[in-house]
Amino acid sequence: MKQEWLEGHHARKRFGQNFLHDRHWIGRIVRAIDAKPGDAIIEIGPGQAALTREIIAEAGHETAVEIDRDLAAFLRTQFTESELTLIEADALKLDWSSVLEGKRLRIIGNLPYNISSPLLFALMQGADRVIDQHFMLQKEVVDRMVAEPGTKTYGRLSVMLQYRYKMFKLFDVPPGAFVPPPKVTSSIVRMVPLPVESLPKVDLAIFSDLVGAAFQQRRKTLRNAVSKFLTEEGIEAAGVNPGLRPEALDVDAYVRLANEAARRRF
Ligand code: SAM
Repeated sequence: MKQEWLEGHHARKRFGQNFLHDRHWIGRIVRAIDAKPGDAIIEIGPGQAALTREIIAEAGHETAVEIDRDLAAFLRTQFTESELTLIEADALKLDWSSVLEGKRLRIIGNLPYNISSPLLFALMQGADRVIDQHFMLQKEVVDRMVAEPGTKTYGRLSVMLQYRYKMFKLFDVPPGAFVPPPKVTSSIVRMVPLPVESLPKVDLAIFSDLVGAAFQQRRKTLRNAVSKFLTEEGIEAAGVNPGLRPEALDVDAYVRLANEAARRRF
C-alpha cells in the first residue's frame, strides 16, 4: 500500500514548505485548474503530491520540478515513469527554455513564497509556449500582481506581469488548509499569456529597468523618478505628464516611456 504522506518529514522552511492537507481546498484548486486528458502539465514544487495525485488522475501525466531530495525520492515511489516525469532541480536555476520546448504547456504550483517573484519573472521568458499558469501565492503578492493603476499595491510586479499576461485572482485559501499553516492568507491566481502579436513592441530590458526605477521612488513625480532615462521633455514626448506619480501610469504609458528612452539613447 502506498502511503499518502511522507511520514516523519519535517517541513523545511528554507524550501518554503507548507503542504496542502485540506481535501476541500485541494478539490477547489484542482477544479480551477480543470486538467484534461493529454494536457501538458508542469508542476513546480509537487511536495507530497497533494495536487499532483489529482492532476495525474485527470491529465494522465505530469512533469514536476522538485528541489527537496527526500520529497523527490518519495514522489518516485508514488507514480510510474509514464505518470510522472520528475526533474529534481532548483526551479530558479532551471533552463526553462529547454523544459518548455515545443509544448503548449499548462504550468501550476503551490509556490514556495520565498522565490515567487523571481520565478514569475523567469517563466515570462517562455510565456509564448504556455497556455496558462495557475499558482498559489501569498495573497499580498497576488493583490500586487492584479493591481490597477492608481492603487497602493500597483507596482513593478503589476506592470511587468500585466504587460505579458491577463491575470485573474480566483479565490483566497486560509492558513488552516496547510500543514504547517503559513502566517498569511494565500490566493490562487490564473495567468493567461497574451498573444505575442498583441504585445506592444518594447525593449524588455529598458522597460524593466525604467519601471523598476520609477517604483523605487514611487512618492516622487515621474520627472524625478525616471530622470536617469528621460528628460522632462522626453517624458512629454511620450505623451505622459511629468508631474504624475509612478502609480498613476498604465502599462501602455510605461511602454511609451521605454520606447522614447530607447529612441533617445541611439
Ligand atoms: N505542492 C505541494 C502542496 O501543495 O502541498 C507543496 C507546496 S510547498 C508550498 C512548496 C514546494 O516547493 C515544496 O515541495 C518545496 O520543496 C518545493 N520547492 C521549494 N523551493 C523550490 C525550488 N527552488 N525549486 C523547486 N521546488 C522548490
